[in-house]
Amino acid sequence: MIRLLENSHEYNNDLRAMLMAFYPGEDISEKEDADARFTLVCDYDDTGATLHILEDGMLTGTERAIGDYKDRQNFRNAIKLAIYHLLSAKTGRVLPWGDLTGMRPTKIAMKALQEGETPDDIRRMYREVYEVSGAKTELALDVAQHEIRLLTGLAADDYCLYIGIPFCPSRCLYCSFTSYPIELYRGEVDTYLERLTEEIRMIRDLTRGRRLAACYIGGGTPSSIDETQTKRLLSGIAEIYPELAEGRIEYTVEAGRPDSITAGKLAVYRAYGVNRISINPQTMHDETLARIGRAHSVQDVKDAFAMARAEGFTNINMDLIAGLPGEDASMMKKTLAQVEDLAPESLTIHSLAVKRAARLREEFDAYGDTIHRDMEEMLDLADASARGMGMEPYYMYRQKNMGGNLENIGYAKPGTESMYNILIMEEMIDIMAAGAGAVTKPVRRTSDNLSERPQRVDRIENCKSLRDYLDRFPEMMDRKEKAFRRI
Ligand code: SF4
Repeated sequence: MIRLLENSHEYNNDLRAMLMAFYPGEDISEKEDADARFTLVCDYDDTGATLHILEDGMLTGTERAIGDYKDRQNFRNAIKLAIYHLLSAKTGRVLPWGDLTGMRPTKIAMKALQEGETPDDIRRMYREVYEVSGAKTELALDVAQHEIRLLTGLAADDYCLYIGIPFCPSRCLYCSFTSYPIELYRGEVDTYLERLTEEIRMIRDLTRGRRLAACYIGGGTPSSIDETQTKRLLSGIAEIYPELAEGRIEYTVEAGRPDSITAGKLAVYRAYGVNRISINPQTMHDETLARIGRAHSVQDVKDAFAMARAEGFTNINMDLIAGLPGEDASMMKKTLAQVEDLAPESLTIHSLAVKRAARLREEFDAYGDTIHRDMEEMLDLADASARGMGMEPYYMYRQKNMGGNLENIGYAKPGTESMYNILIMEEMIDIMAAGAGAVTKPVRRTSDNLSERPQRVDRIENCKSLRDYLDRFPEMMDRKEKAFRRI
């Protein structure tokens, strides 16, 4: 536990984010605790703020941020740099992203490019203002340039559709999503799909006349429902959105767990226009798969991949996680070699995050230093592997509590990128979402120029729990419809 004491809470989130970057999974509290690793004191005054580290009552580090702390726009980076320097000196670690802790480290590069700044100006800014490493600066620039190119042709009125299936074969150690074990909830699936289809129909009514840019069926694990249910869902969607069944639009199904994939389900996906699937090994080591609670083997991944190719899928993504318990860089290397043999079209690399709602958070201490090992090296290996397969980085985001303050990054061969993955992060156009726990995000803008920041992005949240989604469906839909029509 780390104790945090402040005489103003103005930058509490920023201080916490930086503490998490250096100490992922650690509790942070104002309360006195004899077991606290150390106390961070942040004292704001008329000319800035002083940060102290106290250990066993002794002062072991001090940094000062200069400026008017009430001027958030100018002071925020000063205090972030001060805490970054303080923790960097304490731990002896330099973070590749410097003091950038936000969800989208590429946002700054994108904005600067759109405003006409040169790549060299942007490099200087990342280095001097945020102390980002040269390699991460190049990555941010690379991703920003790809995003700008890929988003050309998108209109302000376009929207994306997300459809959530909250069932999984088992619960992963690090999972913080809405997910129910399919074996226990089989009896609820048919009713769930009925409601879900009704909600998708309502979304179509709310968006009549607008262009659907991409559709993503995620979860959970959409492939955990059986073949008949899969067919019912996809045919229902095809009836509402015939353009999806015609294969004209990016249409992804996250067939995440290889053990839930069958040739029959893949054939149904193909028949209804799905043109991109994701088969997610996370690692190609059986002992790690068992440790993280995924009830499948490496062989299952290979079999599912071969099955998907045989069914004619030409755009397959694979997800991997860097920093899993018990893994190091040499294991990542072996995982990547096996992925290279399969030759997917795209690869998404996640840095393991220790989220509050995950079992991993409770069991974190049990993994000691076998977790988050060699993270930077793993990401470098993945970068080289993806580029070696002809892929380029095209989207990137970060989450809270990620080891080393690193990133999740998507690579793809040209032409196989997922617009949905970019748009869910960029919040440029509406995301319409159906299903338990799904969040619809209408974007409110004053002009149709997509390079301008939206005035507001709202959140219309569906009930998270499956029971509430089913029982309170009419009330929830009514609220959603009214909220959407008001916007
Ligand atoms: S497959 Fe995804 S949603 Fe399902 S338990 Fe694992 S992390 Fe959670």
